Amino acid sequence: MFRRYSTLLGLVALTLFVNATTWAQKDQRPNILFIFADDHGYQALSCYGSKVNQTPNLDRIAKEGMRFDRCFVTNSICGPSRAVILTGKYSHLNGFVRNGNRFNGKQQTVSKLLQTAGYQTAVIGKWHLGTDPTGFDYWHILQGQGPYYNPQMDTPNGVVKHTGYTTEIITDVAMDWLKNKRDAEKPFLLMYQHKAPHRNWQPGPKQLHNYDDVTIPEPETLFDDYSNRASPARNQAMTVEKHLNPNDLKLVPQRGLTDEQRKVWDKAYGPKNAEFEKANLTGKDLVRWKYQRYAKDYLRCIDSVDENVGRVLDYLDESGLADNTIVIYSSDQGWYLGEHGWFDKRWMYEESFRTPLMVRWPGKVKPGSVSDAMVMNLDFPELFLDVAGASIPGDMQGRSFKQTLMGETPTDWRQSVYYHYYEFPGAHSVAKHYGVRTQRHKLIHYYDLDEWELFDLKKDSHELNSVYSDPAYASVRKKLEVELQRVRDHYKDDGSVVQYDVPNPKKKKKKRKRA
Ligand code: CA
Repeated sequence: MFRRYSTLLGLVALTLFVNATTWAQKDQRPNILFIFADDHGYQALSCYGSKVNQTPNLDRIAKEGMRFDRCFVTNSICGPSRAVILTGKYSHLNGFVRNGNRFNGKQQTVSKLLQTAGYQTAVIGKWHLGTDPTGFDYWHILQGQGPYYNPQMDTPNGVVKHTGYTTEIITDVAMDWLKNKRDAEKPFLLMYQHKAPHRNWQPGPKQLHNYDDVTIPEPETLFDDYSNRASPARNQAMTVEKHLNPNDLKLVPQRGLTDEQRKVWDKAYGPKNAEFEKANLTGKDLVRWKYQRYAKDYLRCIDSVDENVGRVLDYLDESGLADNTIVIYSSDQGWYLGEHGWFDKRWMYEESFRTPLMVRWPGKVKPGSVSDAMVMNLDFPELFLDVAGASIPGDMQGRSFKQTLMGETPTDWRQSVYYHYYEFPGAHSVAKHYGVRTQRHKLIHYYDLDEWELFDLKKDSHELNSVYSDPAYASVRKKLEVELQRVRDHYKDDGSVVQYDVPNPKKKKKKRKRA
């Protein structure tokens, strides 16, 4: 009798203990706030030493956490980067190799894995993957690319029409979710994702006059002549000189504004445009004017991102959430702010291949620390899972850099990064290429053309002079060729792409409407 009671008591005690442990674990597991910009180059962040702007709020994340100086993407373009972060797999394995593809949401994603692990998951803002989000308890996303003003956003319950500036609206929705909509008992993953500063760089009403009285410093390579490189650098269509259109340059009335918004805009651009027409610029002067117009609008969009991220960081402080929330800031890729005479991304050259990454994790990450470990967007989902204490599936291809965050990069951390870009023919005419980068060198193969480039980043940080055919680099080249094959094998890239049959949800909706 006594024995039976004691067994029963033991069981009760055990149950209580297990529950208590679960509760305690639930409390202790950190929240993950993933703040994601679109096309935000590291050159436009003051924590990265920007010469062109100040980003005091974004800098807070670096100042109170770690800045990564070698964070790379696997494929420098919007949709594919997002698919890599959801799946932890290269484009050829997740099926989303170029913009316009439709993401197969049935596959394994980090959001689903975190859901299973007991996290509450939400995505707010830009999604741009062609199919509805899966694995999210809450979603409120821009339709496709989404406009800068007055966006219509998709939710599981239908379309919500907003009036106002998109960067502020995405932040309002994110704050509302944090304050009122989430289950406070559970740890969360919030993917708070901006449209800004993507083309066509429409500033918010508050930022329209920022930089009015300043001249933005020009990058050293604004007038690059593309000599000493393979042919693709000459044959692209993304120059400030020739490929910014009147809409990009705000020389024509902008679509999608309310009458009131248009008035504010006319006041900002009307006098400047009149002055421009009067000046009748040509040649390099015209390029310089275009650069100023473009760079200022781009930076004004970032000013709004900075201000709005500041609102969220303040809320984390006020609510007490900050202490147990890991805050990550990154962009889907880097960007050309006039370097090589360009805007846009796509290339394996540093400005677009690298992306900003700052991580704040109070009590874990040393404030003001800097890492030059080669991390990638491919690693993000594994970091999320690691932070959550969830198991990491063996078929994810990155690696959690939690140890690096804690100040100790594993000795067997990767020493090279593999890249593969596919979108050709396509916007801006950048040839398909893959390549490998080590801490010092970079080898690029434009494989459809069978042209190569090799850069010595220590001697030629702007990548203006390919030494591929230089006999002095013969042994370096040979080593890199071997390394390139090794990483291609490692990431299972034999040139083929997994084919998923993903139905077009828009067609389905249209059919439904007609029916
Ligand atoms: Ca992008």
